[in-house]
Amino acid sequence: MNRFIPERIGRIAPYEPMKGDYPVRLDANESFVSLPQSLREELSGIVADFAFNRYPDPLAEEVTALFAAYHGVDPACLTAGNGSDELIALILGNLLERGECVLTASPDFSMYRFYASLSGIRCASLQKDESLCMTAEDLISAARRENARLIIFSNPCNPTAQGMPAKEVLWLCDSFGGLVVVDEAYMDFWDQSVISEAALCENLIVLRTCSKALGMASLRLGFAAACPEITQALRKIKSPYNVNGLTQAVAAAVLRHPEVLREATARVAASCRSLCGSLTALAEKNGGIRVYPTRTNFVTVASTCSGRLYDGLLSRGICVRRIGTLLRITAGSEAENAALISALGELLAQGAIGPTTQGRS
Ligand SMILES: *Cc1c(COP(=O)(O)O)cnc(C)c1O
Repeated sequence: MNRFIPERIGRIAPYEPMKGDYPVRLDANESFVSLPQSLREELSGIVADFAFNRYPDPLAEEVTALFAAYHGVDPACLTAGNGSDELIALILGNLLERGECVLTASPDFSMYRFYASLSGIRCASLQKDESLCMTAEDLISAARRENARLIIFSNPCNPTAQGMPAKEVLWLCDSFGGLVVVDEAYMDFWDQSVISEAALCENLIVLRTCSKALGMASLRLGFAAACPEITQALRKIKSPYNVNGLTQAVAAAVLRHPEVLREATARVAASCRSLCGSLTALAEKNGGIRVYPTRTNFVTVASTCSGRLYDGLLSRGICVRRIGTLLRITAGSEAENAALISALGELLAQGAIGPTTQGRS
């Protein structure tokens, strides 16, 4: 190890998204719906006339106002980020002192732990049980036990697809003496958002992204909603030109067509319901997997042979995400879902499956 690199960086495991060419990509929770042709032509015009030589608007005001309108909130409570990822890094890296503790859940989005370690913040986690659910009360007791100053979790949760009702999230904010960061990356698929509450609540930050339901993962655009004081702090500490000009212009053009985004979201939600139904039928027929209900655009499945299922799918050109005994399967196009179901059905029927099904085949 080079002695100029701090030890805590040496210890961090890098985030490694799936590389390589797989015909069916159901591993990253992206939208399978891309932008319609008519909109693409509008975007070509924007690129053709773009002032590449100029710095972008530091506060991304136009796109922020459009995003605020899409969600019915005041733009004054929003901070734009280079993906919500940047905002997670900004919050964990600056709103706590070194050595203080952040509480997250396990399993939950891995970047919370990643950015906490990067910033020398202690990261404790509340272990979820087999139901994959947790309550606000669980979080509060864990936070007290660990003396945590900040609680961060995704709602609905990636990778479990389970959600905490808005009322309970607000109770958590009321009852906890520290900051609560609720990452609503998938809230376009559920109706329990607390984004409207953020402006009036002094210890709540709500994160949203354009990467999932809105189908703009490549643009890297996310938002933090918070009260005026927190918003001022976030705007002050972010790097000045954090959201690039092309992203601002393209996302603004897309957000001017809310009907396109609502329709795309509905298509993805329908695909996810159908995927969940097919997986449930498969589980009833073959056993070997437990399918969880979903509030998101992916379905979470538990299996004691998640490793063999994952490898089997990959060898058939289908990429999903594996987290321990869980498989996280993103809803895809009809053809992609069908390919997944057929391959998984084959694997389960082969009895390539361990202890939970051995008595059944
Ligand atoms: C995908 C995802 C993000 C990342 O969003 P970006 O805006 O693309 O950085 C954040 N949180 C959760 C829970 C996610 O699943």
